[in-house]
Amino acid sequence: MTKDENEIKFSYEESIVDSDSDVEGKWPIFRAATDMKDPQFSLGMTFASKQQLREAVQNYAFNNGKEIKTLKNDKERMIVKCTQEGCPWRIGLKKVLGSLSWRILNMTDEHEGCSWVWENSMVKFSVVAKRWSTELQDHPDWMMRKFKDKVCSQEGFYVSNSQAYRAIWKAKKLRQGKVEDAFKKIWSYKEETSRTNPKTTCPVKLSDLSDESGGMLLTAISIDGNDSIFPLAYAIVEGEKKESWTWFLELLKTDLEITKSVEDEYCFISDKQKGLIPAFESELPGVENRFCVRHLHANMKVAGFQGKALKDCLWACARETTLNAFNVDLSKFRGLDEDAYQWLGEKSPTEWSRSHFSTHSHCDMLVNNICESWNGSIRDARDKPIIECLEILRKMLMGKFFEKKQKAAERKSLICPAIVRKLKKIEKEAAKYLATQWDFFKFEVGHLYGDQQEVDLEKGCSY
Ligand SMILES: [Zn+2]
Repeated sequence: MTKDENEIKFSYEESIVDSDSDVEGKWPIFRAATDMKDPQFSLGMTFASKQQLREAVQNYAFNNGKEIKTLKNDKERMIVKCTQEGCPWRIGLKKVLGSLSWRILNMTDEHEGCSWVWENSMVKFSVVAKRWSTELQDHPDWMMRKFKDKVCSQEGFYVSNSQAYRAIWKAKKLRQGKVEDAFKKIWSYKEETSRTNPKTTCPVKLSDLSDESGGMLLTAISIDGNDSIFPLAYAIVEGEKKESWTWFLELLKTDLEITKSVEDEYCFISDKQKGLIPAFESELPGVENRFCVRHLHANMKVAGFQGKALKDCLWACARETTLNAFNVDLSKFRGLDEDAYQWLGEKSPTEWSRSHFSTHSHCDMLVNNICESWNGSIRDARDKPIIECLEILRKMLMGKFFEKKQKAAERKSLICPAIVRKLKKIEKEAAKYLATQWDFFKFEVGHLYGDQQEVDLEKGCSY
């Protein structure tokens, strides 16, 4: 060890360590952001701190399969050297006077007769946790064995079971820290969002409700004038429960100005998530609540009523627009399976069949697949820390709204393109009918008996 120390020519340092004021111009600076991943060393290279230097040496060692030890390490000098016998690789550094920086004074950047080190004593669980923190955060489900195999095969060094286990644990702590940090910033985030989005409601609420599952993203999606997705509101809440939904609906109600007198003009389609229906009962009792037919069908299958015939019949019942036609299809359904009929009888058709929908909301939608496409588009955001998640959503919506605004500005027509296509189709269908005395009579009767065939056409136009 003393031999190594003597090898450093300290006389050289006097010429190299001076004029600190001119550090930037004179010496190569190690830039952590770009150089840290694959550090390369050169004479005079200056590191911002000892910590940075240590990390650089560590990364260099792992990338090159070398084991490097510290020969000397005090307040002013540091020497690092390859541990393999006879290998000349070494770097000598000195602290820059009056600064936290460290600079390479002398170095031999060459390994000789030095093979890849598999069992490297530099491998510590904290180092592994740091190098793998992003991947561990993206895969919270990784177990020790899987993680160990990944590290060993990708890094080219051995980690023991206990190191792998502790690294996972440490990464969890780091993640937890990040989550907590994000929550600490939520108030400033709210201020900034309110400032830059003047007409947007952006409240933060403290809650004493705790939920093990923690962090649920609630959204309200509507369709715009072109039958496209139009997200109205989103919130991250403690969990899927009545209190959370109530808070969300209360805000939505205020923002959309849904007063008692207009409640029946609104229609909500959901999968009847936990706590949602009771929340509607307390906040918006007068709105129409529908249950997505695709979900109804999924539930029917779970209940044990399967097969294409039943499925088709259920969908026919859902699509019928008149009570008579609905009853005809329902009796067909009963004919197929009496038990399934009894099961279906417990669900109110006002929630899932057009024949029973109110006409106030001017909406004939049966499924909430727009919510599914929305959920699909935000998959990336969902497992991120809270602010990152909110930012992904905000930026995405900002982009989409801007795009739509531009497209809409280009159009001269009052009616949106998807609706024009719809109207053309209806027009073509309608052309097959001839208005005769008899047809007119039927129309009148249909109208009197609440036949909604003609309302359908109206709805086509009113979108
Ligand atoms: Zn070496």
